[in-house]
Amino acid sequence: MARMAVLVLDMLNDFVTGKLKTDRVARIIKPLQKLVEAARSHGVPVIYSNDAHLSTDFEVVERWGDHAIKGSPGSQVIPELAPEENDFLVEKRVYSGFYETRLDSLLRSLYNGMGVETVILVGVHTHICVRHTAADAFYRGYKIIVASDGVQAFTRKDHEEGLKYLKDIYSAEMKTVNEIIEEIEQV
Ligand code: ZN
Repeated sequence: MARMAVLVLDMLNDFVTGKLKTDRVARIIKPLQKLVEAARSHGVPVIYSNDAHLSTDFEVVERWGDHAIKGSPGSQVIPELAPEENDFLVEKRVYSGFYETRLDSLLRSLYNGMGVETVILVGVHTHICVRHTAADAFYRGYKIIVASDGVQAFTRKDHEEGLKYLKDIYSAEMKTVNEIIEEIEQV
């Protein structure tokens, strides 16, 4: 069985109930709770990849305005998915969870230094941070699973086109949260 890690992207207050909220995110919270619980109880690492911006970050100034400002309540993971003691938190300042962060070296250090083979991508947004993190995972040789009911975006179109792109361009395997949990339980 592949050495897996669950990568939870930007499930932060600002993206769920705050400045960049969208109603479509609410529907993935329950499935993600089930997924991270299953991962934790089977020793599959759970890594939170979280925006932690400065107001001067290019992405903030140029495109989105203030969101997930480092240290603010909006930058915290939503209470329903609060990280637990053995989880990992990796802050980022652009869309990709890999860009100038310790994520790659963390993934390579897990499983007693054998490293993670497959990243399971969940969170928001399908066509932005999930997509750019998938790109960087692909460049580095990680297999990618995307939870089709564990990612969301601002609109249905953004979401569906995002999923298609992930599948076509990064060979991401699409699975439901329940299918992923079945795999995790076989670990
Ligand atoms: Zn951001």
